[in-house]
Amino acid sequence: MPRTITVQGAPTAGGLVDTFGRQATDMRLSLTDKCNLRCTYCMPAEGMDWLSRSNLMTAEEIIRLVGIGVDQLSVRELRLTGGEPLVRKDLEHILEGIRRTQPTLPISLTTNAVGLDKRAAGLKAAGLTRINVSLDSLHSETFATLTRRPFLDKVLHGIDVAAELGLGPIKINAVLLRGINDHEAPELVDWAVHRGYELRFIEQMPLDADHVWTRDDMITADEIRRRVVERFDLRPDPRDRDGAPADRWEVRRLGAAADAPAEGVIGIIASVTEPFCADCKRTRITADGKVRSCLFSHDETPLLDLMRSGASDAVVAQRWRDAMWMKPKAHGMDHTGLGDDDYVQPERSMSAIGG
Ligand code: SAM
Repeated sequence: MPRTITVQGAPTAGGLVDTFGRQATDMRLSLTDKCNLRCTYCMPAEGMDWLSRSNLMTAEEIIRLVGIGVDQLSVRELRLTGGEPLVRKDLEHILEGIRRTQPTLPISLTTNAVGLDKRAAGLKAAGLTRINVSLDSLHSETFATLTRRPFLDKVLHGIDVAAELGLGPIKINAVLLRGINDHEAPELVDWAVHRGYELRFIEQMPLDADHVWTRDDMITADEIRRRVVERFDLRPDPRDRDGAPADRWEVRRLGAAADAPAEGVIGIIASVTEPFCADCKRTRITADGKVRSCLFSHDETPLLDLMRSGASDAVVAQRWRDAMWMKPKAHGMDHTGLGDDDYVQPERSMSAIGG
């Protein structure tokens, strides 16, 4: 029989709450640790240790886990990620399975869009709501330097097809690296705003496999804003942030009248310099079925072995609840007094956790 771990004080019913009063309703589920790009700030050029096939959750296990999250733990939205989720040939089957029992659940996909042109229609038919696409450069050479693959055209085409099919609102994720693509910030804003996409700059985080991140070298949110205002008027988006990771800004052309309507919105995800841990609503599941209460966590709680040993949904839900109850107050690398600034990089890098 599966072992039942009782964490002192953890609730035995209801949603995924923690000792600081936060409730996780936003589930990030990684489908695979594999990827067809090798972004320098995420993966090594070669030599990753992949999860073995038997350790990866199957489609049926994923569908069951999402059902437990929604039906027993009050999960309200699902983001599928990786690695690269399109690498999984059964992605459409997974989506159909989730949709069958969760007709209204918002399901989004974070993808690099390589091969999306051929899959987008099937993904939509299977129940996908919308996509987030990673795109750090609009220039082939820079794109290839950053991702170590020459696939910019494929990515742009994938985004076009998804947009035509209505897989929106589309969000574009960009990481800026000093001396490589940081000068592209205004160009990326221009490109996204004129296509109706929401661009989100993500601060480079110390989750890279090569361990080359340094605080001194990263492009901060403050620097991103300073670069963008050289070409655009930025005003805080008045909408409630509601626990979202991105701090949103309305975009207008320079010199726009005070009452001019916004041309678009951008977001800045400043996990390092302006952390939002106090409002975090996320619960993460790795591709091998482990709960991480925080992206930067060192602790993982396995659910897959429990599921495979015949545990009921209620038992799996309780272990998940227990794991989230222990969610740390903050990730520990901020200078704001929230954490201790005693950050140690977790063993798994971003692609293996699920970004
Ligand atoms: N393959 C998909 C993609 O490219 O969007 C999903 C996985 S990827 C790990 C998810 C997001 O994490 C991407 O937007 C990527 O840019 C971001 N990311 C990866 N490593 C990062 C790092 N060290 N700092 C900040 N963002 C990172």
